[in-house]
Amino acid sequence: MRNSILIALISLSLGGLIGAKVMESFGRNYIMANLPVPSGTLNDKDVFLKSIPANSELVKKDLVEVNKKAKNVILLIGDGMSASQITSYRLLKEGPNGRIAMDRFPISGIVLTHSADAIITDSASSATAYSTGSKTKNSYLGVDKDGQILENLTEKLDGFGFISALISTSEVTHATPAAFSSHVDSRRDTDEISSQMLESKVATILGGGRNFFLPPEKGGKRKDKRNLLEEAKKSHKILTHKNQLVISNINPSEKILGLFANEHLRDEGTPDNHPSEPTLTEMLKFSLERAKAAIDNQCRGSFIMVEGSQVDWAGHANNIDYLERELGEFDEATRYALDYAKNNQNTLVVVTADHETGGLLIEPIALSYYTGNNIKFSFNTAIGGGSHTGAPVPVYAYGPGSMNFSGTLDNTDVYHAILNALDLTEQTGSCL
Ligand SMILES: [Zn+2]
Repeated sequence: MRNSILIALISLSLGGLIGAKVMESFGRNYIMANLPVPSGTLNDKDVFLKSIPANSELVKKDLVEVNKKAKNVILLIGDGMSASQITSYRLLKEGPNGRIAMDRFPISGIVLTHSADAIITDSASSATAYSTGSKTKNSYLGVDKDGQILENLTEKLDGFGFISALISTSEVTHATPAAFSSHVDSRRDTDEISSQMLESKVATILGGGRNFFLPPEKGGKRKDKRNLLEEAKKSHKILTHKNQLVISNINPSEKILGLFANEHLRDEGTPDNHPSEPTLTEMLKFSLERAKAAIDNQCRGSFIMVEGSQVDWAGHANNIDYLERELGEFDEATRYALDYAKNNQNTLVVVTADHETGGLLIEPIALSYYTGNNIKFSFNTAIGGGSHTGAPVPVYAYGPGSMNFSGTLDNTDVYHAILNALDLTEQTGSCL
């Protein structure tokens, strides 16, 4: 009797197991057959390719009037940084419950990044949207889609007595800083970009890229053979070592060109072995001290653009360690900017990106394996390498005018929201 109950129980549970397997496989087949999945396999990512309707007119975001205006603006751009990059960094640095500097902002929104001629933007057109409020073609800098010069933020603000600084970890001639200081229809025209930068209204330019200011016989990369570094000495104080970032050594009215590396800062091969190169935070600290001295002197306010340039390169390289390092440096600068703004209530801090790079995913290690901390970071290399994607990017804001950075913004709206936060009633002319 006992034995037959046991046998019955065993056969029931075996039958149940087999039945569940059959049901699961039936269920999977049923779902696969009945959902509107395009032909091809689920691994074939191209099956989702669709054409997009032609552009209708872009509607400008309504902005709230800002009563208490900002005196200083710090715009931090993490090149190639979207929610996945920020989430990966948070997980690696602090764990899922930890919070990084970007998490401490009271206002956040989403920025749409398409350019005038492409769903997938490059850094040039996206930075031009931030610097001029206009969409342009990919690879264009500071000019509209027909190649016409657009007044940029640093030029406009110079007319109202603001002092500007551009900071990057790439060569200073790279797309993002170049969009705030030059007007060319090819980002590759670095001879022209560097020449225009020296004639621009920007008072402080800090980053890498000495080779783009030197002729080949001096080890440089200029095609026009000019020694622009030598020429720049007439108009700029040249800095080459981070120890020179001392505000008391700077004459308030002189322009500064700080080039701390031949190419970009912290070469990937030897990222920790560059004692002469400042961090983003060190360059930001100096630029803020410079801004304060200028405001104490005769300037009305300041604009500082800080680019974490190599977040993008880590995405292109599909390298999560590189990404962690670069986001670490960027988040530290963000923390410095936010703390500064909290102590100086007239400062607007805006943190955003130009586009996402690498199609970064935070995935379970196996199908439906949603347990514990078993995850993997993977870059979507479906088209054969790390590329920019059309994913939107986050924006965070703190300070006067920050409320205009909530909700959905076009990248051109970011420009208008920055201007909206500033008192631009009196055109006093350049303060330098
Ligand atoms: Zn890129």
